[in-house]
Amino acid sequence: MTKQKHPGMTNAEFRRLGEYVRWMADAMGLRDWYFNLKHSPPLRDDESVDKGAGARIEIYWGKRYADISVCEEFRTMRPDRQRQFICHELVHCHLDHLDSLTDNKLRDHMGEMHWQGWHMGFDLAFENAIDAIADAWARKLPLISWPKPKVKNGRDKRA
Ligand SMILES: [Zn+2]
Repeated sequence: MTKQKHPGMTNAEFRRLGEYVRWMADAMGLRDWYFNLKHSPPLRDDESVDKGAGARIEIYWGKRYADISVCEEFRTMRPDRQRQFICHELVHCHLDHLDSLTDNKLRDHMGEMHWQGWHMGFDLAFENAIDAIADAWARKLPLISWPKPKVKNGRDKRA
């Protein structure tokens, strides 16, 4: 028995989630991106965790590379919520350039004080837009198919 690495998920489930993220990314036009599914869930007090979300993405600017992590309760959530969360994080990839531009260019022009107030509103509008896109898009994509739990006495060897 291998040691479980991911909180709230078996190794087989974690592997399946990685395959699902890859499949979703390909279907959503992100074939040339690389995704690393992280073992550790996002910290709850982390400001970059989407509010009330079950997942988080950290995109490395200009590299088409991103870390994705899910919360500890992810496996027990409704499948359509799981799909929506993954879809939401992947939509972020398409809009990352826009997000980075505001961070990297506009911040200097505005000055820190104006930036802080303005960015709060921008962030909310940005997240709402991503959520609306993800809501509509996710319905067109399949739900994750979690692996069947292994039979304890080992009779079922097919899994
Ligand atoms: Zn988001």
